[in-house]
Amino acid sequence: MRKLKCVFPEYKEIQRQFTWNPDWISDYESPWGIFEKFKYANCVTAKDILFQFGNEEVLSRRSISYSQQNCNLIDMPRLNNESITNILKLDVKARNQEFMNLMAFVPRHRPYQDFFRKQLTFCLTCMKKGFHSILNQFSLIHVCPIHGDPLSDRCPICDKSYPYRLGDDALTAPFQCSCGHQYLSGTCNYSELWESKPVIQSTEVADWISMHYKQKINFNDLILSSEISFRNLQGGMDFILQAVDPSYKSIQPEKHYVVKSPSRIMVYGNYNKEFESIRESGSDERYLRFIEKINELIYQSNRSTFYAIAKHLRATILRDHIACVRKLELFDTKCPYAFAYVNWKKFIEGHTHTRQVDNKYRPSRERSKYEMEFISKQDDSALWDIITKWEYGKPYWKYKHLTATIWIINRVLAHFALNHFYSWLEIAKNTESLGLEFDNVPFRYENVPFFLIKLPRDNEKELEFHWWLKDHDQNKPHLVCPFKTGFG
Ligand SMILES: [Zn+2]
Ligand SMILES: [Zn+2]
Ligand SMILES: [Zn+2]
Repeated sequence: MRKLKCVFPEYKEIQRQFTWNPDWISDYESPWGIFEKFKYANCVTAKDILFQFGNEEVLSRRSISYSQQNCNLIDMPRLNNESITNILKLDVKARNQEFMNLMAFVPRHRPYQDFFRKQLTFCLTCMKKGFHSILNQFSLIHVCPIHGDPLSDRCPICDKSYPYRLGDDALTAPFQCSCGHQYLSGTCNYSELWESKPVIQSTEVADWISMHYKQKINFNDLILSSEISFRNLQGGMDFILQAVDPSYKSIQPEKHYVVKSPSRIMVYGNYNKEFESIRESGSDERYLRFIEKINELIYQSNRSTFYAIAKHLRATILRDHIACVRKLELFDTKCPYAFAYVNWKKFIEGHTHTRQVDNKYRPSRERSKYEMEFISKQDDSALWDIITKWEYGKPYWKYKHLTATIWIINRVLAHFALNHFYSWLEIAKNTESLGLEFDNVPFRYENVPFFLIKLPRDNEKELEFHWWLKDHDQNKPHLVCPFKTGFG
């Protein structure tokens, strides 16, 4: 099988005897950590690991490369289960998959790989002991579950970051940065050190893991927006636990809000029979008319939602600035409120110029009437992302549950739209922005508070929209309008 001796003469002398003890490995230890230990104990490199544990594809090439696939430690597609188990006495691949399944709940359509950080992320205290946990790679965890220390992805000396993969490029020796910084405490007896087992202290992480084992929750009942990154989201795991387990005690300062749909919303607006009969009839004309009708219902409903929000803003925060809005359309004012409102409406409705932000200019529909369209051009792809997860591969789903589909779109649209308005108010704080005509929206979803949609277990129950706000979020900002004395 391995005709390798002639291809890799430099490896033929490799000893088949390794220094290794499977008791050195703890629960939730990452494959990266396991291989670093192996490298350290045996004075070998990542190339030796690939030579020893690589599959046919790795070994059949003329030389062993550090390609993405070869070095992938998430799925380890190029490492051979059998050779790993033979030598390490541990099925590293199966264990890793089990831990990853446990951590990443794979909410609809979001591939679980997305939940794992691409950069090596570590706790310095753990690294001193030569321990690296797969939990640290999980994007919902921001502090070490064992020590409570903030996780880092940079060398404390040279600030270098390392990809989460096999390789010797950034970490030139086991547990050692290319700048020479030693992560592993130099004075230790590693064999003794590695036999002591770290214990998870974080109640949040322990709860998350126990929920999975007790199968108390089906995380697939949740829809999370792909636009909300977990990178800087401190409370993500806590928020999700709050949404799925009423007995969970939150440790985050954010306040949890929930809006529920009417019960049995899943039963209303069922157009599935009509859809099926049209499909069976094979009539293109009837089919197109049906699609057009559904799309119109969706569009009109989210249009009304958006105008209700605009009306609410004009009646509250903008109450004293309606005249400013008119002046701004003529470039005759530097009122921050008018600036925020006009830009907000311009980009949501998809106008090219602030002049067009006026009730006389009706936003025109851009798509063919046979394609689903939303009032917010700015949120088109983010809303599609939600719809795709809601449909979950079943295109008839939105027709079968049209009332629920519309409820979800409107909820998410309102959440985004309100936040876009507050983001524009933030920009208005910089008086230099006030005279500018923006070509693009200068923000995305970075300030949108975390939210999720919880789907009912059965059709008798309601849909839930959950979101979390800090106390100081969305307080009225104090901006100066030139037409008002004092604060607006
Ligand atoms: Zn730690
Ligand atoms: Zn360094
Ligand atoms: Zn004003």
